[in-house]
Amino acid sequence: MTQPIDDLRAFLDASPSPFHVVKTVADRLAAAGFVQVATDDDWSELPDDGFVTSDGGVVAWRSPADLRPDSPFRLAGAHTDSPCLRIKPRPDSGTAGWRQLSVEVYGGILNNSWLDRDLGIAGRLTMRDGSHVLVDVDRPIARVPQLAVHLDRGVNDSLKLDTQQHLQPVWGIGRRSPGEFAEWIATEAGCDVPAFWDLSLYDVQPAAVLGADRSLLASGRLDNQLSCWAAADALIAAAPTNATAMIVLNDHEEVGSSSTTGAGGPLLERVLERHVLSRGGARADLLRSLSASSCVSADNAHAVHPNYTDRHDPEHQPMVNAGPAIKINSNQRYATSSSTAAMFQRACESAGVPFQVFVSRNNMPCGTTIGPITATRLGIDTVDVGVPQLSMHSARELCGTDDPPALAAALRVTFS
Ligand code: ZN
Repeated sequence: MTQPIDDLRAFLDASPSPFHVVKTVADRLAAAGFVQVATDDDWSELPDDGFVTSDGGVVAWRSPADLRPDSPFRLAGAHTDSPCLRIKPRPDSGTAGWRQLSVEVYGGILNNSWLDRDLGIAGRLTMRDGSHVLVDVDRPIARVPQLAVHLDRGVNDSLKLDTQQHLQPVWGIGRRSPGEFAEWIATEAGCDVPAFWDLSLYDVQPAAVLGADRSLLASGRLDNQLSCWAAADALIAAAPTNATAMIVLNDHEEVGSSSTTGAGGPLLERVLERHVLSRGGARADLLRSLSASSCVSADNAHAVHPNYTDRHDPEHQPMVNAGPAIKINSNQRYATSSSTAAMFQRACESAGVPFQVFVSRNNMPCGTTIGPITATRLGIDTVDVGVPQLSMHSARELCGTDDPPALAAALRVTFS
């Protein structure tokens, strides 16, 4: 039998871009009997177990039969995107005998973590007719080479990287040749030369269990594919009784969530409304349903760092392999209230997994996530939680091996 952590590794390795996360989740749902519907389908006869995809976003549900129109939803949310380098539309560049790719920074990457890594390329190609082709070149193609210490004696005191000048990868030698990249990626994907694309560079090193005691997991994109995995795993295993269990995996969290498939967009709200309509309900039923619904927003938390323990509040230092952290911020950077925190505490207790509490230091800015956006848009009671990790937004992050299955177990309880 596959161990949960090996299943998560397979999920991570199969998902080098948000579009691949959606495909990985969709494949798993379909294999478990969930039926895909399209946004332009007639939804008057919705499958009990179904899902809808939209670019880098996906919503999936499991409903008990014969729900009332105003029955509540038990939601879990996460995001499919991760900070990375993206290939620009006219990428063929180079100088001094090197062929390079022009890249754009997506989200808040740790610049130095992208240096000297073997980078593959993955994402979505868009043809002239608007059709899409998924592509994953899963081998070393590019590298952002670091400057030798001999040529910058001060580098160990202060590494300064200009994102326009110093993060452009090499992918070969010779003259730059306009159109070369488009021709090359078309050959790799086995399709016509695309008109445009959404392509990311990614570290091709697979996810790996780490530590003499095998207690840690290293991989790219743990933030937040780990939570996508846990949400999908929990939904597939859920047995809801009097509410619809639903997961929403949004794109574009790392750049503020304002997009058609981001948490600030209409994706979730439309699916919720169409569920109520398909059960014969009206707007009043939707509003009653929302007032009784709840949402667990799952996004990784900062574990206490052994070399920087001063960056955490002394009483709120999540540790890896001590359970998911409930994230609290009284300035509403997180949506958690005392009521929703207690709700998640009950879920952890009945799942038999530990939990922790995270509050950032008063003199440290607090991050945010999709929870407050979903809560504000829909007025649903929401708790922000997340698995503690180190190296957040590095090209290669680190978490514990016990926490991802613990999160999945807690989510499964909230669905049931
Ligand atoms: Zn995140």
